[in-house]
Amino acid sequence: MNISHIEHIGIAVNNLDEAIPYYEKTLGLKCYKVEEVSDKKVKTAFFMVGQTKIELLESTDPEGPIGKFLEKKGQGVHHLAFAVDNVNKSLNELDEKGVRLIDKTARKGAEGLSIGFLHPKSTMGVLTEICGKE
Ligand code: ZN
Repeated sequence: MNISHIEHIGIAVNNLDEAIPYYEKTLGLKCYKVEEVSDKKVKTAFFMVGQTKIELLESTDPEGPIGKFLEKKGQGVHHLAFAVDNVNKSLNELDEKGVRLIDKTARKGAEGLSIGFLHPKSTMGVLTEICGKE
């Protein structure tokens, strides 16, 4: 497995209409896309910081994963995503190394990337995503 960089940092927010102006007007970043991922019950907003993105996550359903996270922990860092060349190959490798996987095989995430999540119980508490073009 070859991690090239941090692809994005996912941050759970109560409200994109409130969060986007903070990132744009206060921090001076530019929101280049807002995308709804309906099967994950989430609306996302993306900002570029060097080659790393900030992915804001607003829940569209209290029963969805971000809805539950916000309910339990409130707003804040939700997950860290590493860029790899091949997501399925990396998931297999991690599986062999004994890492507990949320996704056994890659699935489609925001921005058309292949993604897979590792369980925080195996990653010192950090919900970790690996993502890539394949
Ligand atoms: Zn993500």
